[in-house]
Amino acid sequence: MFEARGLMVFYENMLALNNVSLSCGEGQIVGVFGANSAGKSTLMYTLAGIMLDIQKKEAMAGGERITIRGALSFLGRDVMQLKPAKRAEAGIVLCPERRRIFPESSVMENLRIGGYLAKPKEATETLDYVMTIFPALVKLENRLGGFLSGGEQQMLAIGRALMAQPRLLLLDEPLLGLSPAIQYWLAKSILDIRNQRGTSIIVAEQYARPIMPIIDYGYILENGSAVVEGTKEELLDNPDVKAAYFGTN
Ligand code: ATP
Repeated sequence: MFEARGLMVFYENMLALNNVSLSCGEGQIVGVFGANSAGKSTLMYTLAGIMLDIQKKEAMAGGERITIRGALSFLGRDVMQLKPAKRAEAGIVLCPERRRIFPESSVMENLRIGGYLAKPKEATETLDYVMTIFPALVKLENRLGGFLSGGEQQMLAIGRALMAQPRLLLLDEPLLGLSPAIQYWLAKSILDIRNQRGTSIIVAEQYARPIMPIIDYGYILENGSAVVEGTKEELLDNPDVKAAYFGTN
């Protein structure tokens, strides 16, 4: 349903994404694993279209020259030149790294902002679903986003993305800064979302261990290149992947 071919991104002459191709089938969870600076955020921004906005902003400010190349197709449609809002309307929704919720808006306001594109009936149904999957948010409805714990903020960020009715949810480092127990719990919630809503999900993550069990297929990103790919079993059987991501041989 979603296919990226030969993605290249340059920041000036620095190659941040080097010929990356990946695909995500209907209802699949696809993992993209990589260390700091491997290019995960650049990839997720490129998939969501935000890279086009960054490119334009830099060009207008006389800042760095960003070059983006490659092909992206979503449900048979070429989406490479679509702006991020249009991609979101089409169903490609990004939940960005470091959560980026609105700190001065309440939990409920954050969720409603996420649902502004949805029809009222969908928004009500999805809001109920978000509160079922993240029951901790029920009591926090009126709390300001900035006063939530890291785990609560991440639940809110994912909840807000769900409110936009994604068919493909892009999660950029959802586990960052969370305790191991919360990381495992959140990974399970991501799996529940796929199982219960059929949402296709691409998750970029540095912490492979909690995410690996929930993926159908994965890619290892190193210095902007997808160096290994395979099913969960293939990745877990690969000695290089084990050594780099699980600290064992
Ligand atoms: P992190 O976990 O640190 O967010 P990442 O895997 O998401 O890492 P990116 O943020 O995509 O990696 O960065 C990939 C490379 O591109 C890094 O070397 C980074 O320094 C560089 N980079 C990112 N943004 C810019 C920019 N605006 N200008 C120049 N170089 C950049």
